[in-house]
Amino acid sequence: MIAENIKRPTPASLLDGAVVANQIKELVKSEVATLARQQSIVPCLATILVGEDPASTVYVRNKIRACEEVGIRSEHHALAMSTTTTELLELIRSLNSRDDVDGILTQLPLPKGVDETVVIEEIDPLKDVDGFHPINVGRLSQGRPQLVPCTPAGVIELLDYYQIEIRGVSACVVGRSQIVGRPMFQLLMQRDATVTVCHSRTSDLAAVTRQADLLVVAIGRPGMIGAAHIKPGATVVDVGMEKLAESSEVRRLFGPAAEKRLEAVSKRGYTLIGDVNQAEALEVAGKFTPVPGGVGLLTVAMLMKNTLKAAKLRRGLSE
Ligand code: NAP
Repeated sequence: MIAENIKRPTPASLLDGAVVANQIKELVKSEVATLARQQSIVPCLATILVGEDPASTVYVRNKIRACEEVGIRSEHHALAMSTTTTELLELIRSLNSRDDVDGILTQLPLPKGVDETVVIEEIDPLKDVDGFHPINVGRLSQGRPQLVPCTPAGVIELLDYYQIEIRGVSACVVGRSQIVGRPMFQLLMQRDATVTVCHSRTSDLAAVTRQADLLVVAIGRPGMIGAAHIKPGATVVDVGMEKLAESSEVRRLFGPAAEKRLEAVSKRGYTLIGDVNQAEALEVAGKFTPVPGGVGLLTVAMLMKNTLKAAKLRRGLSE
């Protein structure tokens, strides 16, 4: 897409993550059924949750529900907050050794006392459905990916679904985390975008992001990316997902759409918000992902895809 060719001011169109996520899950469901019918294999995802953090509990529940939807077997391990690194490593070793377990997902963040790096490195890279193991990170950076982190992989699926050009475009990723920013950079570069990565030390962020035809933001700063950061007509992908409870902030960040959001705040105590100021993005961007309803739904769908892929990879079956 050449951003300059888009006539302004037309309000940006929304990229609906639900449509894409459902399509991915339908494909996985059909392949899982074929695998069961032809090879008597039912992929299995083992989920591990340490402690009872409410947000993590909801995320894991959604992942288990998605497994049920697509026909993947799931096995949940709920561990006490007091679990030590050694105990967690023992569980992971036993899951690594079991032939009936295809994917291992340890919900992050882990409690402070547990060494996250050591835990991630213990997972068999072929069962690492989050794509966080150094072997999978290394493979991705060498351009021969196997299991790729779900959120950035979901962004690529979304862009492909909506036929948004990646090759040759000027892309900017804001955020350089292991789970989103860095793998997002790799995936976009491998698809022949020219990619700039920004972070908290980038000087004059808006001047850099405004150059991008494709802007992907993952910083965890509610509504921070506004009109000044967006090139007119650009595609803006908002990975951010935060809870906003303060009414004055809701009014400031949602403009004309604030009343609906305030209803959600009074019902649930919060509304979900991304890193992009939606009201401003609507005016300037060509296309953008809403929050909720954008990238968030794709992460779980891609986890299902990765679990199916892991089940095939380990058995030497073609994808
Ligand atoms: P993270 O690990 O905290 O990393 C944040 C990144 O943003 C860092 O690289 C940081 O730079 C950069 N950053 C922070 N403030 C900035 C600023 N003012 N200007 C420019 N860069 C800034 O976060 P994450 O795990 O990647 O998550 C980011 C957001 O995505 C969060 O809202 C999270 O909830 C959401 N998320 C959503 C999904 C989903 O499924 N939709 C999945 C994962 C994450 P430095 O490296 O310099 O510190």
